[in-house]
Amino acid sequence: MPRAETSPNTSPAEATAARWWSAQPDGRVLCTLCPRLCRMADGQAGFCYIRQNRGGKLVQLGYGRSTGFAVDPIEKKPLNHFYPGTPVLSFGTAGCNLGCKFCQNWDISKAKLDLGEAGLRQSTPDDVVDLAVAQQAPSIAYTYNDPVIWAEYVIDIARAARRRGVNNVLVTAGYVTDEARPELYADADAANVDLKAFSEDFYRKTTASHLDAVLETLKWIRHNSNTWLEVTTLLIPGHNDGDDELTRMAAWFAANLGPDVPLHFTAFHPDFKMTDVPATPPETLRRARAIARAAGLRYVYVGNVHDEDGQTTYCARCARPLIGRDWYAITHFALERGACAHCGHPVPGRFSAEPVQLRSGFRRLRVTPA
Ligand code: SF4
Repeated sequence: MPRAETSPNTSPAEATAARWWSAQPDGRVLCTLCPRLCRMADGQAGFCYIRQNRGGKLVQLGYGRSTGFAVDPIEKKPLNHFYPGTPVLSFGTAGCNLGCKFCQNWDISKAKLDLGEAGLRQSTPDDVVDLAVAQQAPSIAYTYNDPVIWAEYVIDIARAARRRGVNNVLVTAGYVTDEARPELYADADAANVDLKAFSEDFYRKTTASHLDAVLETLKWIRHNSNTWLEVTTLLIPGHNDGDDELTRMAAWFAANLGPDVPLHFTAFHPDFKMTDVPATPPETLRRARAIARAAGLRYVYVGNVHDEDGQTTYCARCARPLIGRDWYAITHFALERGACAHCGHPVPGRFSAEPVQLRSGFRRLRVTPA
């Protein structure tokens, strides 16, 4: 059921007009940005905390506010077929439209918009693009909390970035309505979408959302947009890692997204409301990868562990290693203009003509606008 909350600690001067809503006969407003479809009385905020009814109009409280900027490797998003080896300016705001019990960014996703509490700073779209250019980051990632809920800000930054040749990357749970999706993705060059499980029961009980809307988003990006797509599933022992569920997920993936969309299985560590569940054993990641490859998926990776074989991109024709990785390290690179350097077979994704520098690791760099 939609939940609306009163959001404290925000003054009218701090809000921007929101989009994707309608006034209701009872004086509430209906937000149609995500499938939660919150109905808010005057003064109430939606489930995500950052959209609020003020005097019969919906406002967006996250516009211009970042919880902090960092430069990450693109592999950390994770994206393995999108300009590998490059840095990406990464940031988020506050709040979330899902309620994942295992959230690994819960300090941000459950933060209400109290400027003091969340440490939010004001940045215009041009400030953000300027920072990416100053850091020599060819891409900006909208991440840490779900960019769907601050779509107005994402869209304005993405347009400014596109004009200046900077790429846009969305890291998202894909929980967005048909109505808002086309504009959100219009200037998105790449997306990593979480597929949190392949069970409606898991989505409903563990994430407070629904599977079908996410599957629709995945199909839509793959078939109706120009956005490069990769998918991530965090494997949680005993919750979404059974052979039957993984086999059904892989079959759906192959039939609906095709064999060339990369799939990442990443390791869970105990967090937030799931501290009683153990970390994912490496053998679970390897088992999931084997199931997905048996279903015909060509680019299946494991993450949050050291596993060079499970993180390397292999040529789909000659099977030789093309991009070697060990966590965020790039250990080997044998692509030429997006194709295998040995047999010339093309690799799906977006690749630069520039040679990629090998690196032994990567340290997150915190940065601030000028
Ligand atoms: S975006 Fe936020 S306010 Fe709008 S429906 Fe989703 S959770 Fe509710």
